[in-house]
Amino acid sequence: MHQQETKTIALNVARAYIEKDILYRNWNAFHGGLYIATDMGLVPNPFYPPSLEERDVTTPSGRQLTLVNPAYMTRQIYEFAQKEHKVSGRISSLKPLRPENKADAWETTALQLFERGHQEFSSLESEEDIRYVRLMQPLVTEESCLPCHIHQGYKTGDIRGGISIRLPMRIFDPATGKQVALLWAGHGAMWVLGLAGLYAGYTGLRRRTEERDLATEELQRLNAVLENLATTDSLTGLFNRRKFLELLPANILEAKRYGMPLALIFFDIDHFKRINDTYGHETGDYVLQELARIVTGTIRQTDIFARLGGEEFVILVHNNDARSGGVLAEKIRFRVEQHDFPQVGTVTCSFGVAQFCPDDIAETLIKRADDAMYAAKQSGRNRVEIRCD
Ligand code: GH3
Ligand code: MG
Ligand code: MG
Repeated sequence: MHQQETKTIALNVARAYIEKDILYRNWNAFHGGLYIATDMGLVPNPFYPPSLEERDVTTPSGRQLTLVNPAYMTRQIYEFAQKEHKVSGRISSLKPLRPENKADAWETTALQLFERGHQEFSSLESEEDIRYVRLMQPLVTEESCLPCHIHQGYKTGDIRGGISIRLPMRIFDPATGKQVALLWAGHGAMWVLGLAGLYAGYTGLRRRTEERDLATEELQRLNAVLENLATTDSLTGLFNRRKFLELLPANILEAKRYGMPLALIFFDIDHFKRINDTYGHETGDYVLQELARIVTGTIRQTDIFARLGGEEFVILVHNNDARSGGVLAEKIRFRVEQHDFPQVGTVTCSFGVAQFCPDDIAETLIKRADDAMYAAKQSGRNRVEIRCD
């Protein structure tokens, strides 16, 4: 693909050369030749028709000039160019005036094609490892050519010969190399830019994802903190009233559906006001915390233990009826009574136990347990009162 483009460029350059050479030839022919000084060694054209006069003239100051016709001028220039090892050109003919201008095999093919109407002949050739493009175009006889060529029998419009150019391909190599380098550089730059863009996009996306994950984690953490604050009693760490009232209906529903017994223990510290009054509010707080620890250590993890408010607590005991709930309440009562509370010594509680009945809703179950606890208070405190119905 690239080779093809180079060949096209080379042919276009060769065409431009020929066009320019023909232009100069026509200009020369139009003016009937150029007089050139012979000081630099120019030999008068030996093929100049003798019929034409004034081939050589002497200026008034004595300078020798000789007439150079288009063919002679072109040859002089091409020989000059060849010395410079650049583009070489040649004029050739099947019937030359000058024997050296006889067409070689390649030129003969071209000239024969021109006679059949072809306008141009070109090919890529190789000689001693040098590649070059060769292009030939016909030289058509014009009016201005006739003075020199009429005696050969040519008339206007006849193809008299051809002008050919040889362009070494290497003159395009630096450009080709440069183009290839530029192409590589361009593609490389695009590749690098593309990769950089992808990497920037990837890191940006990753950073945003990480930021979003962090924000989500932080939000989840804050939600958990809020949830904890909203559902936990800050003094004892137990569920608060709100959470208990939220959990109770679901547990009642479950007990109803599976026909499992459910017991609620309601208890209240006896004469707690006295404790506060005697030892201070802080000690009262400590008693509340200590009591929470004792009870937590006695019940099962599946039981729901909550501080309803003040010194009132509830325990929802799964899979327990009033009797076994009463046994648990008694166990707790005993442990609390046996515990030596720092500063305070003995603390007691009164317990009410109620069993869930099919018609119960949360409020009625709590009310019955509360009533039972009140009965325990009435009966002298530090006791367990059970409501079976
Ligand atoms: P009873 O045996 O009849 O239950 O007598 P009581 O003194 O325990 O009952 P009462 O309801 O008269 O007193 C409860 C006291 O509990 C009143 C209140 O100051 C105290 N209290 C409520 N909440 C807290 C708390 O968070 N910390 C402390 N230290 N005391 C509290
Ligand atoms: Mg009390
Ligand atoms: Mg009370």
